Amino acid sequence: MAAQVPVLGEIVGLKRESGSRRLASAAPSDIRLRNRTAIMRALYPKTWLSRAQLAKITGMSKVSTSDVVAELIKDGLLIEGEYKNLPRPGKPALDIGFNQDAGCVVAMDLSDSTHIRALAMNLVGGVLLREELDCPPQAVLDVEAIRELCNKVCQGCRSKVIGIAVATPGTVNDEGLVIEAPNLGWVNMDLPSVLADVADCPVVVANDADAAVFAERYFAGGSPDMILVQIAKGIGAGVLISDGIVRGRGFTAGEIGHVVMSGGTVPCVCGKTGCLETMVSVPVLDERISKDPDGRSGILDEAGQNLGRALAMPVAMTNITQIVLSGPRRLVDETMVQATQRSIDALARSRFMDAVHVQLSNLGEDAAMLGAAAMVLRKELSVL
Ligand SMILES: [Zn+2]
Repeated sequence: MAAQVPVLGEIVGLKRESGSRRLASAAPSDIRLRNRTAIMRALYPKTWLSRAQLAKITGMSKVSTSDVVAELIKDGLLIEGEYKNLPRPGKPALDIGFNQDAGCVVAMDLSDSTHIRALAMNLVGGVLLREELDCPPQAVLDVEAIRELCNKVCQGCRSKVIGIAVATPGTVNDEGLVIEAPNLGWVNMDLPSVLADVADCPVVVANDADAAVFAERYFAGGSPDMILVQIAKGIGAGVLISDGIVRGRGFTAGEIGHVVMSGGTVPCVCGKTGCLETMVSVPVLDERISKDPDGRSGILDEAGQNLGRALAMPVAMTNITQIVLSGPRRLVDETMVQATQRSIDALARSRFMDAVHVQLSNLGEDAAMLGAAAMVLRKELSVL
């Protein structure tokens, strides 16, 4: 069936508007696009509705609804399901649903430069296949290896690849240019151009913590107002406020790892002393625990308390309701979560401020890849 699925250029009608200012009155093409988006959103990801129900929900006329549904079925994006049993006599209504197999997104995670992971996902977040690649430790991550891995996954997809999504550490601008990723040895790496011809589809590149917070929101029922803290070689946070990712003018929002903490005494690679990263990162905690295995619980409790100290102010500043901790489960566990919760409660909670809920990531190590893929779905299909 893959051959019948339209390529992205053909379903461009679903793309979000951007660029020039619009006049007050909507052009017919705008109305058509809005109607297509409204129908898609009503059904995404797994809702089945009759044409009459769709018309009621979207406020469109029955004729317009039927026309748009027919167009989307023709494009391969919607499918017909079963007949509904109506409570009253009359013509039975046919259910319409979103076609999760209309295409797929290929996603990659570069957060561990020695172990790159990739997956292909259907259009509702279901993982179809996985590939991994071990890279030797090197000062600069080889983009050819990334291209090859990406190509391998794209070749393995049975449906049309509608977009490639890459989650990377470092700062990334709106065009997907990796401005700087010290852990990968990259400066101004134009990853979208590197991967442009792999599957002849759009390439979305996002900071890994930004991608992970997006995934927690859309694939794990997360709050529209939350902070995701990614604990890896470094520490980064993805900040979601009213469903918008906070990126900052220089795209460095959430880079909390090199903020100096009171009481910190360990010199940091950045030249300062006592950065959060010298207290909570994976290499630091692994090393401390390897030297003192019996002290593991106390070490992780202390890390959680320090994380809570760092997060108390942004929590009070933004009134976010959820904090998600993401990282290897051997370190980022319930002990760390509870210590973080206690610390924030003690520092920020008051009769004016409700408790923020601290929890582990529901998506584990797939979070960044699924989130970057979700960004493709938002950009190309407008369903999120
Ligand atoms: Zn530092």
